[in-house]
Amino acid sequence: MKLRRAGILLLALHLGSAGCVAAQEREQSASDPNEPQRLAMVRLIRDYGVRDPATLAAMRSVLRHEFVPEGYRRRAYGDHPLPIGYGQTISQPYIVAYMTETLDPEPGMNVLEVGTGSGYQAAVLAEIGCQVYTVEIFEVLATSARQRLERLGYTNVTVRHADGHYGWSEAAPFDVIIVTAAAGYIPPALVEQLKPGGRMVIPVGSVYGVQNLILVEKDASGDVRTHNLLPVRFVPMLKGLR
Ligand code: SAH
Repeated sequence: MKLRRAGILLLALHLGSAGCVAAQEREQSASDPNEPQRLAMVRLIRDYGVRDPATLAAMRSVLRHEFVPEGYRRRAYGDHPLPIGYGQTISQPYIVAYMTETLDPEPGMNVLEVGTGSGYQAAVLAEIGCQVYTVEIFEVLATSARQRLERLGYTNVTVRHADGHYGWSEAAPFDVIIVTAAAGYIPPALVEQLKPGGRMVIPVGSVYGVQNLILVEKDASGDVRTHNLLPVRFVPMLKGLR
């Protein structure tokens, strides 16, 4: 998925506690050769303005290079999307972080993701301690993401090969819903499956152009409000299983 970042967000520079991060980095890099790159990725995301400690900690933990095809591993920690086959992409790290922070997920929350792709976003949510249900329209991608998440030990993620327009009624209601493909409209089933007090982020707009990332909030009495967050560019949310 591609993102056209709001320029203003890019300008935010936050340099606090750099010493602390460097010490952490030295300690951890001995065990994993990718650790320095991963920490640099998280520092960049922080500099862009994402400050939620749980989001940043999860992104420090998830081994992003495991979620990209072998030929792209060298670029796994750059702040850009990468191809994962079938015309699909693993999301840009900054947008993963931004969406996660916006949803403010907490341990134990019931979460639905539409658009499993590589499984990376699901792993970030699982790392936070959520129970994650994720649906993917390409069977091949659903299967490989399921195997990858199992291999990496994410027992709190369930992957289903399905069309996300219909959500996952057996696992509903959800505290949080994250849609990682561009929708032409907000699918009514997803709004229905959101708990009162729940939040959803979804890119809505022209599916082959730029969309608006929208925050949908359902209040305690079930009333729904939407807010535009920022312009983004995601791969289209498709119809019909593949
Ligand atoms: N979240 C993913 C990236 C998603 S890219 C990650 O972290 O890697 C968008 C994904 O949505 C693609 O894998 C695409 O196949 C899937 N998709 C598209 N339309 C869908 C639909 N209607 N239901 C479920 N998945 C869909």
